Amino acid sequence: MLTEITKAQLVCWRLGMLKNAGKATTAQISLAKRNNVDMALKIAREARQLHGGMGITGEYPIMRHLMNLESVVTYEGTHDIHLLILGAEITGISAFK
Ligand SMILES: Cc1cc2nc3c(=O)[nH]c(=O)nc-3n(C[C@H](O)[C@H](O)[C@H](O)COP(=O)(O)OP(=O)(O)OC[C@H]3O[C@@H](n4cnc5c(N)ncnc54)[C@H](O)[C@@H]3O)c2cc1C
Repeated sequence: MLTEITKAQLVCWRLGMLKNAGKATTAQISLAKRNNVDMALKIAREARQLHGGMGITGEYPIMRHLMNLESVVTYEGTHDIHLLILGAEITGISAFK
């Protein structure tokens, strides 16, 4: 968890530096959003699983956190649409209009 979160933070840090310099591209933003939300969701799921049955109760905030992250997969560009943007970036062929 620590390693993946640290890697995601490095992606954000680099993207922030590019944004400040006016050089961040749409594809780079797609890459960061898609990767980091996916990573956060996987970690939240693992954290939920570690707590067994207690992980789904309201006594701990893990399930609420997990549900919040599920919504982030959809808003600000869905996981699939960011993938299409990345596909267009590396192939030069757009799968959407
Ligand atoms: C919590 C939350 C907050 C939101 N806040 C805002 C907001 O503030 N402002 C705003 O304007 N909108 C907001 N939205 C809306 C959000 O931007 C849309 O839900 C999102 O863009 C997906 O559109 P849709 O729901 O119409 O799904 P659809 O476009 O019908 O997509 C359904 C599924 O099909 C996939 N899909 C769609 N087209 C393709 C394709 N060509 N190829 C492959 N897969 C595809 C999508 O990735 C998705 O998984 C919010 C949504 C949520 C959940």
